[in-house]
Amino acid sequence: MEELKRVILNQQTEEDQVVDISVRPHRLEEFVGQKELVANIQVAIQAAKERGEPLEHVLFSGPPGLGKTTLANIIAYEMGARITVTSGPAIERAGDFIGILTNLEKGDVLFIDEIHRMSKTVEEFLYPAMENYKIDFIVDKGPYAKTINFNLKPFTLIGATTRSGLLASPLRDRFGIFHHIDFYPPQELAQIIGNSAKKLGVSIDSDCALELARRSRGTPRIANRLLRRVRDFAQVTRGKLLIDLVLLEHAMGKLKIDKEGLDEFDRKILSVIVEHYQGGPVGIEALAATINEEADTIADVVEPYLLKMGFLRRTSRGREVTDKVKKHLLDVVSYLPR
Ligand code: ADP
Repeated sequence: MEELKRVILNQQTEEDQVVDISVRPHRLEEFVGQKELVANIQVAIQAAKERGEPLEHVLFSGPPGLGKTTLANIIAYEMGARITVTSGPAIERAGDFIGILTNLEKGDVLFIDEIHRMSKTVEEFLYPAMENYKIDFIVDKGPYAKTINFNLKPFTLIGATTRSGLLASPLRDRFGIFHHIDFYPPQELAQIIGNSAKKLGVSIDSDCALELARRSRGTPRIANRLLRRVRDFAQVTRGKLLIDLVLLEHAMGKLKIDKEGLDEFDRKILSVIVEHYQGGPVGIEALAATINEEADTIADVVEPYLLKMGFLRRTSRGREVTDKVKKHLLDVVSYLPR
């Protein structure tokens, strides 16, 4: 028995290493949901290709794990272009950027994740690059200052942000295509889970996929991650890759994920607001300090789903819980082990 478990666990590690790459859709037609966005992108791609021009600059906003990076890769693939990937915080100085920009070939895609975290100087440096494919770089200071001009090849910038509100409007205005990506309904997540299960060789029926989807916070990345965790339970407790509702409930209990898809951290935030702040309103900084977490993590990762599901409300004086929170927290105690 021990030996069997070890073999299975070894296989699991190997699978885990390739899982993200293997389940990621590569073509637009494999991208599940977001129908309107996909249709618009399809038209923009076809039109740009017919004109022999690069696609206009694209901005995607929305919570993490909803497919912004995936879409950037898909666009590059559909345009037959190369993609260079970087992120706002990774480009510290304008100088770092010159190498990246001057290496771009005609039609290439430059993907900048977390574009709202780019420094002001780098951002301003990007404006002429986006607008007329030129950059002006100033070397030295004072009387010795010289401006060097670089001509770039026409490229497509794809920016992704979890907080479009933090983006300066001159930057936002330079994107010709802008899409906000919203949480996925359970039916679409169930489809993503079904596709990933097939690729991973896991057997899961449609009811079960839908139940797992309901626990996935409207987020494909979480759906795939939970599928992998439940697969672990199937392997280890049953010795076969079969997921049914009994196993799913067992795994969700162990992972402490409730029927609304909230985990321990979500419930902690809600109960802190109830217990320490009499239900709110409480400012996000105060809340973050109380639970010893970064305010950005709460704002980017945790809060959007709690707002969407109607557990939290945003007011001018901060966040407050809604009426359904107390009942939910009490219910959870009855079916989740402490
Ligand atoms: P983001 O960049 O928004 O944080 P990603 O593009 O990295 O999110 O997506 C996370 C994972 O979720 C990807 O690896 C991909 O497999 C999956 N995914 C996201 N959106 C979709 C979708 N619409 N259809 C299928 N899989 C998706």
